[in-house]
Amino acid sequence: MSNCIAIDGPAASGKSTIAKRIAEKLNIAYINTGSLYRAVALAALRAGRDLASIDRGFLDTLQLEYAKDAAGGYELKLNGAFPGPALRTPEVAAGASLVATRPIVRDYLLDVQRGFAGERMVVMEGRDIGTVIFPDAAFKFFVTATPEERARRRLAQDGEAADGATLAEVAREIAARDKQDSERSVAPLKPAADAAVIDTTGLSIDEAVDTIIGRMTR
Ligand code: C5P
Repeated sequence: MSNCIAIDGPAASGKSTIAKRIAEKLNIAYINTGSLYRAVALAALRAGRDLASIDRGFLDTLQLEYAKDAAGGYELKLNGAFPGPALRTPEVAAGASLVATRPIVRDYLLDVQRGFAGERMVVMEGRDIGTVIFPDAAFKFFVTATPEERARRRLAQDGEAADGATLAEVAREIAARDKQDSERSVAPLKPAADAAVIDTTGLSIDEAVDTIIGRMTR
């Protein structure tokens, strides 16, 4: 069994905040795997590459590593630098969802994710951690919320990176990503058969965190 606590779920379901909080409480590493797909999209956009035809040659030019940031948590470095808010723009989010449909990208990033976790205890958050990356994870959760609630959270979370987007625009962007993420042929977004599904609509962050930790210690 892997030492991973897998937290999967759709965009803006609250899973990043929840996963981070759980890692802090348990004093273990937290890894956001969406950053990897976002970093591939960002690098391709910067290089003027067609996102739909990224190949292994391009991926091999990238340097992707998790390193401790100023706050002491693990953040992704792309080619030696923390990308910061550039990873959170709507263009990069949509690009991430597109590159994530490509098996070559997923295979490449699978190794990065497994390589980071190794033997250590880690809270890993994404879309396919419990189904593909660590099917033998120690604990699996699928965190979700209604589309309206998720749009509100994404707008609040992205702040300036949302670039003046309205709630309706954010809701449309999230719906498009949900569709692409759940209909892709490789690793479609869905709860692992043995995951506990946690609907966080109407729950505070603390309540969601307590619910999940309660399930682990039961
Ligand atoms: O979680 P986040 O919104 O940052 O993820 C960006 C995109 O990366 C998602 O829409 C999804 O297409 C992709 N992704 C994925 N598998 C993961 C994490 C993210 O396919 N484990």
